[in-house]
Amino acid sequence: MASPHDPSRTDMSGNRSDVHHRVLILGGGSGGISVAARLRRGDASLNIGLIEPSETHDYQPLWTLVGAGVFSRDVARRREADLVPRNVSWIRERVAAIDPEAKVVTSSGGQRVSYDFLVVALGIQINWNAIPGLAEGLGSHGICSNYSFESAPYTWECIRSFRGGTALFTMPATAVKCGGAPQKLCIWPMTTSAKRAFETGLR
Ligand SMILES: Cc1cc2nc3c(=O)[nH]c(=O)nc-3n(C[C@H](O)[C@H](O)[C@H](O)COP(=O)(O)OP(=O)(O)OC[C@H]3O[C@@H](n4cnc5c(N)ncnc54)[C@H](O)[C@@H]3O)c2cc1C
Repeated sequence: MASPHDPSRTDMSGNRSDVHHRVLILGGGSGGISVAARLRRGDASLNIGLIEPSETHDYQPLWTLVGAGVFSRDVARRREADLVPRNVSWIRERVAAIDPEAKVVTSSGGQRVSYDFLVVALGIQINWNAIPGLAEGLGSHGICSNYSFESAPYTWECIRSFRGGTALFTMPATAVKCGGAPQKLCIWPMTTSAKRAFETGLR
């Protein structure tokens, strides 16, 4: 019988995988890295694999404070290599397909990775294009969002330069990365150096 540390397995269809992990984690964001660290701490010998293509990790909760002018966005960005726990096999590719019956994940590079337990932590994909004009306008014309590394600094630019008029804050009705983030952004300008501008001219 194959041991849990065998590098490869034959699935139920008779296809051989390139590598096998007792626990395979998809996505090395906050969720994936936390699970990997927790499992590693609980069992130093556990065979854990991680599929994550990005060389950098963004700690997204800090983007609220990037938009508030407290931090530069680089403070929230770390090297993924510094966060992946030791002895976790990191496959630096995208997840292309999951075959739940065969218990095999195929990576963008065509690697077949079999598993006993699968943790899916691939995050939420923001669909800027769902609102016509948003993708083109974001980061200019006073349109800002804290929901991306690229656009968060422009939020502070907008707050700082606000000199009265109508400031419109939106709250998505869909699944959202952080329910509090849009509300914090709405409250924050009242408590910062932009306060006077808001108090004098906000509608
Ligand atoms: C502005 C803002 C403020 C927030 N504030 C808070 C807060 O105050 N408190 C709080 O608890 N939460 C907050 N959040 C939410 C928090 O950041 C998320 O809940 C958390 O990041 C989700 O973790 P995750 O691992 O599911 O997804 P993510 O951290 O988004 O990670 C997903 C990972 O999957 C990878 N990935 C995507 N597709 C693939 C693929 N095909 N193959 C392989 N890898 C892939 C990505 O590269 C990424 O590394 C905030 C979020 C935002 C945007």
